[in-house]
Amino acid sequence: MERRIWITIITVSMTAVLTACGEKGPCKDGHTWVEATCTEPKTCSVCGATEGEALGHDWSENTPNYHQPKTCSRCNETEGDPLEAEFAKKGLAVETEWDKEFTITTPCYNDESKTTNGKYRFSNFRIAASDDALGLEAAQGYEWLIFDLICRYDDENVRKYGFTGVFNAGMDYYDTYRNPDLGSMFEPGKTDLETVDRFTVNYNGEDYPECIFLWGEYTDGWNAEGTVCISQHTIYIRIPTGYDGMVVSMIPNGSDVLDKLDAGEMVIDSLDDECVNFRVIPE
Ligand SMILES: [Zn+2]
Ligand SMILES: [Zn+2]
Repeated sequence: MERRIWITIITVSMTAVLTACGEKGPCKDGHTWVEATCTEPKTCSVCGATEGEALGHDWSENTPNYHQPKTCSRCNETEGDPLEAEFAKKGLAVETEWDKEFTITTPCYNDESKTTNGKYRFSNFRIAASDDALGLEAAQGYEWLIFDLICRYDDENVRKYGFTGVFNAGMDYYDTYRNPDLGSMFEPGKTDLETVDRFTVNYNGEDYPECIFLWGEYTDGWNAEGTVCISQHTIYIRIPTGYDGMVVSMIPNGSDVLDKLDAGEMVIDSLDDECVNFRVIPE
């Protein structure tokens, strides 16, 4: 009698050992494998058995970039932040509000010891795929951002002595050192786009080499009474659809910044608080 009890106990424990090995358990006809992922090895969904190791993340080669953090091309896991834009690295303030008025003081034209206040604003923003009448050609994956830079002078000094205004510089908010100062002069309907400079921006990790930055001609006009002068020009920029990295800086004539530029410094290294930097973000 005692002997039979012992045999039963031994049989029960052997069954328990075999089940733990998976041979006679729920997976006796084979495991139900779930393929390995970035963070988990190949795993049986029934018993939890594993084989091999986790794959590890497959970090996408073009990340991190200015718009995306380091990203796994398999599972989309991200790590860290996107690259920091040059304007942000430098701590340079940018304006983005359309039709906001910026007052910039510059020397008068006929007497540089006098100054006048120009009231500048960026206005009339529009987007176009192309514009045949203006001669703005379409390109696949790009769009044209078109807007006016308008300045109003109405103080006594400008009536007496005229104005010198600002020097404009075009830059890339993200990657200013690749494209230090952008732009070609442009006469709507006349300038052949084949003759103007191209530049490259990086958007979502991809290079777009067919970007174009065009400065329209200035038009200055006094009102009939000779009390108000409106100076304005149009800016035309072809960039990848959705790109938000173009900056137009206004550098006052008479400022040290222009001396630094004459001495060969990069625009972004020369800008100071007197300058207004407007970042062109599609509305
Ligand atoms: Zn299993
Ligand atoms: Zn992954």
